[in-house]
Amino acid sequence: MTVTPGGSDREALMLACPACGSQQRHEPGTKSLACTACGARTAILERTGATLVEQPYDDWVHGNTGRQVASLGGVVMRCEGCHATTEMAELASVCQFCRGHLVQVTSPDGVVPPSGVLPFLLDRRQATDAFTAWVTSHRLGIDELTTINAAESFTSTYLPVWSFSATATTTYEGRRGDRKPVRLPDDRVEMHTEWQDAAGTVTTRIDSQVVEGRKVSVVQDRLVRNLSLEGTVPFQPEYLAGHTATRYDRDPASAFEEVRRAAEKKRIPKDVRDHIGGDRTEVRSALTGYSDVRFALILAPLWVLTYIAAGKTWQVLVDGRTGEVAGEFPVDGGKLARLLLTWLGKLALVVVGLAAVVYFFNR
Ligand SMILES: [Zn+2]
Ligand SMILES: [Zn+2]
Repeated sequence: MTVTPGGSDREALMLACPACGSQQRHEPGTKSLACTACGARTAILERTGATLVEQPYDDWVHGNTGRQVASLGGVVMRCEGCHATTEMAELASVCQFCRGHLVQVTSPDGVVPPSGVLPFLLDRRQATDAFTAWVTSHRLGIDELTTINAAESFTSTYLPVWSFSATATTTYEGRRGDRKPVRLPDDRVEMHTEWQDAAGTVTTRIDSQVVEGRKVSVVQDRLVRNLSLEGTVPFQPEYLAGHTATRYDRDPASAFEEVRRAAEKKRIPKDVRDHIGGDRTEVRSALTGYSDVRFALILAPLWVLTYIAAGKTWQVLVDGRTGEVAGEFPVDGGKLARLLLTWLGKLALVVVGLAAVVYFFNR
C-alpha cells in the first residue's frame, strides 16, 4: 500500500459535515457534497487543466514490469465514523460496521488510478422514473414488475472503463481493378476489369475508444458501447462519496488488445480499401503498427437494481447520466401466449384470404 507523505490518515477521504459532523455525499447533478443529516453543502474543488489526460501507454508498460492487477492488494482504510479499519480494493465502499462512506484517495503501487470521472447527473428518483418508463414499455413483463420498489432497491456505482487513443499505421499490398469499355473485333463494346498492383501506407487515428475495465453486470454491454465521454471531469475522490466504485480487474494490456482487434476488424480494412480505390479492390497483405498509444481510466456512473421475480434474480442498469436502461425481465407466459395467438389469428386470416383469391382465379 502507498502512504501519502505527511499524513497517516489520508488513505480515506474525510467526509464529515463541517456543520453537524454527519456524513456528506456527492449530490448527483451538482459539483457539491451534501450532508445527509442537515443538508449543508460543500463545493467540490475543481482541478484545473485539461478535462481528460491520457497517459503514454509505453511508459506504463515499462514502469509496471508485467504486474497484473489481480495480484495487487487493497488499501487499509480507517472509518471516520466508527474508526474501524478495513482493507479494501474498491475505490469507494461503505463501512461494514456503521455504513459510513469510505473513499480511497491513493492507489496502491501498480494500480492505475482514475484520470477522469463522469459524475452522476441522475439522482435516485430520476433513475426510478427511467426504470418505471422502461417497465411500462415492456408490456410482456409479468405484472409484479410494476410493484417493484425501485427507489429503495437502487444502488449507485461507478463502472471502470478504459479509454485508448493511438495512431495505427498500416503497410499494405494489393491490387485495384477499374472497369473500362473494350471494343471487340465485331465492334461490340464490353466492360472489362483492368487490374493494377497497389501498395502503400495508410494511417488510422483511434480517438478515445472505450472498452470495459470490469464486468459488474451481465447486461452492461450496450451501455458501455453507447457510453459518451463528453462531460468527463478530472478525477476527484469526492465524486465517489456515497456511491460504490470497484477497481478494474482487466489489465490495460488486455484492454488495448481489444481496441486493436476492433480496429483491425473494421476501420483499418476499410481505410486500406478506400486508399487503394478502384471499382474492385483486393488486399493481399496488411501489417499494422501502433504509435502514440495513450490511455486513461475513467469511472462511469450506473444505477443498479437487482430484483427477484418469478423465483429468479434479475438485473437492471440505468446510465447515471443519460437514463438509458439495460436489463432483463421475466416474461409473462400468459401475455406472450395471447400475443402469439393474436398474431397467429391474423396470419390465419391472411392465409384464408389468399387461398380464397387463388381459388377464385383458378375456377
Ligand atoms: Zn450536516
Ligand atoms: Zn464505520
